[in-house]
Amino acid sequence: MRDVAIVGAGQAGLQLALELQAAGQRVTVVAERTPEQVRAGRVLSTQAMFGPARALERAAGLALWDGQAPDTRGLHVVVGAEGKPMLSFDAAVAAPAQSVDQRLKTAAWLELFEERGGRVEYRPAAPEDLAALAAGNELTLVAAGRGPLASVFAKDAARSRFEEPQRRLACVYLHGVGTPEDLADTAGDPARIHVVAGAGELVLQPGLTLSGPCLILLWEAVPGGPLDVFGDDPGPAETLARTRELVRLHVPWEYQALADAEPTDAGGSLAGAVTPVVRHPVARPGGAEARPVLGMSDTLVTNDPITAQGANNAARCAAQYAAAVREHGDRPFDEPWMRALFAGYWDQVGRHTVDFTTTMLGPLPDHVQLAFAQAAADPRVATRLAQTYADPADFSRWLGTPEATAAYLATL
Ligand SMILES: Cc1cc2nc3c(=O)[nH]c(=O)nc-3n(C[C@H](O)[C@H](O)[C@H](O)COP(=O)(O)OP(=O)(O)OC[C@H]3O[C@@H](n4cnc5c(N)ncnc54)[C@H](O)[C@@H]3O)c2cc1C
Repeated sequence: MRDVAIVGAGQAGLQLALELQAAGQRVTVVAERTPEQVRAGRVLSTQAMFGPARALERAAGLALWDGQAPDTRGLHVVVGAEGKPMLSFDAAVAAPAQSVDQRLKTAAWLELFEERGGRVEYRPAAPEDLAALAAGNELTLVAAGRGPLASVFAKDAARSRFEEPQRRLACVYLHGVGTPEDLADTAGDPARIHVVAGAGELVLQPGLTLSGPCLILLWEAVPGGPLDVFGDDPGPAETLARTRELVRLHVPWEYQALADAEPTDAGGSLAGAVTPVVRHPVARPGGAEARPVLGMSDTLVTNDPITAQGANNAARCAAQYAAAVREHGDRPFDEPWMRALFAGYWDQVGRHTVDFTTTMLGPLPDHVQLAFAQAAADPRVATRLAQTYADPADFSRWLGTPEATAAYLATL
């Protein structure tokens, strides 16, 4: 049995904690907030998780909302300009996606970890606390998301593509959203992705929140553009009011669907922005001679949510780290082991999501625009595009370069 400390009780930290606990390790989680505080707080994400990430949760026995949370079986994509749809397509996904409000999920996972005998220290960890945790544990992991603690890990300038956010985000959780007429016959309950040319994106996806099934709406606004109107973080009711007006102007085919919409709860909205960044994986907060600490998930690789990869990556990262700890036996968790573990994660997961997300933040290269146009004409292209969200490693194989796209389209 190894002593492991994990700072941060989000998707990554708790999934890893529960997996290591199940494998017989003695795990301590440092959590900022109790389950009650998490449930009573604001929403944290829109957290769509695709089939492969859901399979990892299922394998770990953590898919507690299967059958309760709505399954999303496809994408409905519309590219519009000046309030008119220019291009649209529907695509099924191979395995359904799901979005369970992280307030619901992480609070329940934290309770489960404690019920199973796990130790939780409720406090925000400061950088100096990391030194003490590292001294007292054989392995210390930082899964604190993209918050201030992440800065104990130095930025990897060569892998970081941006110095500032590429989108301003606003999200609101809603009950009572209808289905646009043209979608009434679509099988399943698709996520609706609307591209407002030059201005940003609007995503509507089914989800499960504290009060039951809901519709989660996310604006991805190009800074300074016409959709960038939520900078004052206006709260659920006003986010919905401004959303209605933006939808009337830019996505009018969704307007009627919002007629009876109401925010799910007082915490059901979010506004902000994410600066994409990649960090070096190992830090020594206790000094050069002290034990190192290893970062994970958003703490090391933060993407804008436009491609909905962060929570999926958290699941992937947790599963990879858990397997590596299990396989490591009694050997020390030293810096070379940490670096090799992250190198594997970066190679298999991180770099693909950074490439995919950077491209989708635009301006879209001609060959990607061509792929979108072809998706509207050929369901096989639409399906491959939808599957790229589930498996971003496929991005470079067919969308990474003009040649790759041309080669794929030539096979059809
Ligand atoms: C608006 C928005 C929409 C998104 N939509 C999607 C989507 O549809 N699909 C998707 O896959 N991803 C999405 N993401 C990204 C996703 O939410 C994150 O990538 C994912 O939650 C990262 O998980 P994590 O466990 O690494 O970090 P987090 O979820 O951020 O968890 C970190 C945890 O650490 C805690 N913590 C922080 N600092 C400390 C400290 N000092 N001491 C102790 N605890 C600390 C926090 O309270 C939190 O519980 C979205 C993000 C945003 C902002």
